[in-house]
Amino acid sequence: MKYFSLHHQAPKVTFREAVIRGIAPDRSLYFPEKITALPRSFFDQITSLTHQEIAFQAIEQFVAGEIPAPELEQILDAVLDFDFPLLELDAHTAVLELFHGPTMAFKDVGARFMARCLEYFNRDDDREVTILVATSGDTGGAVANGFLGVKGVKVVILYPSGKVSDIQERQLTTLGQNITALEVQGTFDDCQRMVKKAFLDQDILSGKRLTSANSINIARWLPQMFYFLFAYKQTKERNLDIVFSVPSGNFGNICAGMMAQKLGMPCAHFVAATNVNDTVPQFMENQVYAPKPSVATISNAMDVGDPSNFIRIRQLYNDQFTELQKHLSSYSYSDEETREAMKALYKQFGYVADPHGAVGFLGLRKYQESHQNVLGVFLETAHPIKFLRVVKETLGLDLALPPQIQKVMDREKVSMPITSYQDLKEFLLHP
Ligand SMILES: *Cc1c(COP(=O)(O)O)cnc(C)c1O
Repeated sequence: MKYFSLHHQAPKVTFREAVIRGIAPDRSLYFPEKITALPRSFFDQITSLTHQEIAFQAIEQFVAGEIPAPELEQILDAVLDFDFPLLELDAHTAVLELFHGPTMAFKDVGARFMARCLEYFNRDDDREVTILVATSGDTGGAVANGFLGVKGVKVVILYPSGKVSDIQERQLTTLGQNITALEVQGTFDDCQRMVKKAFLDQDILSGKRLTSANSINIARWLPQMFYFLFAYKQTKERNLDIVFSVPSGNFGNICAGMMAQKLGMPCAHFVAATNVNDTVPQFMENQVYAPKPSVATISNAMDVGDPSNFIRIRQLYNDQFTELQKHLSSYSYSDEETREAMKALYKQFGYVADPHGAVGFLGLRKYQESHQNVLGVFLETAHPIKFLRVVKETLGLDLALPPQIQKVMDREKVSMPITSYQDLKEFLLHP
């Protein structure tokens, strides 16, 4: 399997090269040259397959030839050692909980998979790889956790000071070892800008192998297909058309769901639910893609004004708007509406959702206004504890800290404050 750059100005590469590079030399995203649907029998028999078996079949063609089957199986065993439960709230509504991993947000699977792939590719190469990543919240923790102790890999995380939750900050500043957290006096956009600049800086690149670990990287993006297949497995017996509503920021997760559909997974429609960062809902309305600066919201992991992965979604439908429209709807919600949805979920179903899940729920309800006879699945992408303050303000609840969170809260924060690109450069050149 080869991967091409979506700007077509860079050579095709293997899975290995695409993972190590992260982004193509022409600054665009890699995309698989071919997507082959899985046999019908796979979907017919999915209820008898384990999560590892499902994942193996889904990802195999994308990795083919570069990680041998036994190693790929081992990687998947290690990555998928927690649950992905689907809870039915009523006859037409279910929630897929993706937060049962070590950092309690759905990014654990992608981060762990990418870490294990890099570890495999580095097994007999002593050149160190540096992962440079900007985070608005959950990416940092998942990447830190996924890469902790991985041989030959150093992780440098930039996060905006005071703009991530306490738990999120602890998760990325308390691990030590091969993980360093740089605390930026600025916004997430500032962090992102510095990271992008470093990726183009020849002074740094001449002495270092740098890669990214956000959903631009195919090894973080593709394994997210698994969630949708696991959900399909759990809803198959219901014999209703499935609609997925995905709270979206960089659009990696929903794009992976649409990939699963390309693999042949029966599914009626996707809803991309966003907060007020509504670049995609606007595009679906008027076909004009107009990125804008991100706006801070209570669902901060989705505060993205120019979603990187949307270009991959367009590619999936050959940039044919009418085709895309058949498969995707997109709606945007304010913080106030999000809080109302959290209250409604709690009141109607006794379900405590985090703000991201609540945005997903809103998107689903909107779609169901005109499509009643479907099974709607909204994705709950983070444990509500990660947004403690919002949950407390909105629902008046004090949630108990789960053990994996308590563990990091007891550790000491270690970060290095930086204020400018020059500081970052200094750190990378002379760590
Ligand atoms: C990252 C994240 C999202 C958005 O996922 P994308 O793949 O960037 O669209 C949603 N919810 C939570 C909790 C996240 O951490």
